[in-house]
Amino acid sequence: MSSNHTLSTVSPEETTGFAEKLASLLHAGDVLTLEGDLGAGKTTFTKGLAKGLGVKRTVNSPTFTIVKEYEGRLPLYHLDVYRLEDSDEDIGFDEYFHGDGVSVVEWAHFIEPYLPKRRLDIRISYIGETERKIELSPMGEDFDRVCEELMK
Ligand code: ADP
Ligand code: MG
Repeated sequence: MSSNHTLSTVSPEETTGFAEKLASLLHAGDVLTLEGDLGAGKTTFTKGLAKGLGVKRTVNSPTFTIVKEYEGRLPLYHLDVYRLEDSDEDIGFDEYFHGDGVSVVEWAHFIEPYLPKRRLDIRISYIGETERKIELSPMGEDFDRVCEELMK
């Protein structure tokens, strides 16, 4: 039985710090999805993940490319599939999702049919200027354990 976990952060730094801690619990082939309105903090969260994975380069929203790859302890594949909204194009998602790195997908519901069953769904909601709610929905037992460890 998977149970969801909710927390709130009161600054961008707290969000990146939380994501950094999550990164320390991840392995090659892990897939995270990020949902939330524009400005919710999906890219901010990804910056924290990158830091936690030992990525040295600056992470920005992949605006003109759908995928950006970063070198770290594990490679990070940062996908922003917003521009695939009206398309059912498969850009080779499996190569990333079953690859040697961690994939993080902003606006993941646009590519729902391509998402692996085993993944961690994350929703970020705007509460106030610097406050966000973060909901974790683990899909699969591995991510149940990751979440339990993370929420300790
Ligand atoms: P998205 O990728 O979801 O469109 P961004 O991460 O690009 O959102 O932008 C989020 C904005 O909200 C950033 O300017 C960030 O500094 C700000 N922010 C304020 N409070 C928080 C918080 N608690 N967590 C994350 N971001 C926050
Ligand atoms: Mg973004």
